[in-house]
Amino acid sequence: MASPRNKKMQKVCRDCHRVVDGEACSVCGTANLTTDWAGYLIIIDPDRSDVAKRMNIILPGRYALKVR
Ligand SMILES: [Zn+2]
Repeated sequence: MASPRNKKMQKVCRDCHRVVDGEACSVCGTANLTTDWAGYLIIIDPDRSDVAKRMNIILPGRYALKVR
């Protein structure tokens, strides 16, 4: 099984944990990013997701569970 190689390089916003494509977070607009994260989380409907509520996620998208 081939694992996605570019996942390691994927950046995550330290503020909202959103997986970011590019140099700045599309939610908070911050460039406070890290590649040191774990746990892939896809939020489709934040209103109905307990995890999203706990993490203060209001927009659907891809997020990291843990950010170091
Ligand atoms: Zn953010």
